[in-house]
Amino acid sequence: MNFVFGEARSPGAAAVISTYRLKPRKPNEPDLLESRLLKEAVHEIGHMTGLKHCARVECVMHFSERLSDTDLKSPNFCDDCRSHLRVSY
Ligand SMILES: [Zn+2]
Ligand SMILES: [Zn+2]
Repeated sequence: MNFVFGEARSPGAAAVISTYRLKPRKPNEPDLLESRLLKEAVHEIGHMTGLKHCARVECVMHFSERLSDTDLKSPNFCDDCRSHLRVSY
């Protein structure tokens, strides 16, 4: 990979996310940075619990190859990922 939006130990207790590539191109879109940060943070927390990437584009565990993937997905886990979380905890 040439870059990552974030990285986490999976499972583990450490993760990092970067705002560098999450910043909106237009300065009048501060909510977009907040939304992207939320999704990437939840995504990395999901990895910390042991979750893998999800094929569902709307699931927060879907892999973001580009910012449009992050913008498309929701900040929520799909039912399958959520049930994995319930089994893990
Ligand atoms: Zn990931
Ligand atoms: Zn999922």
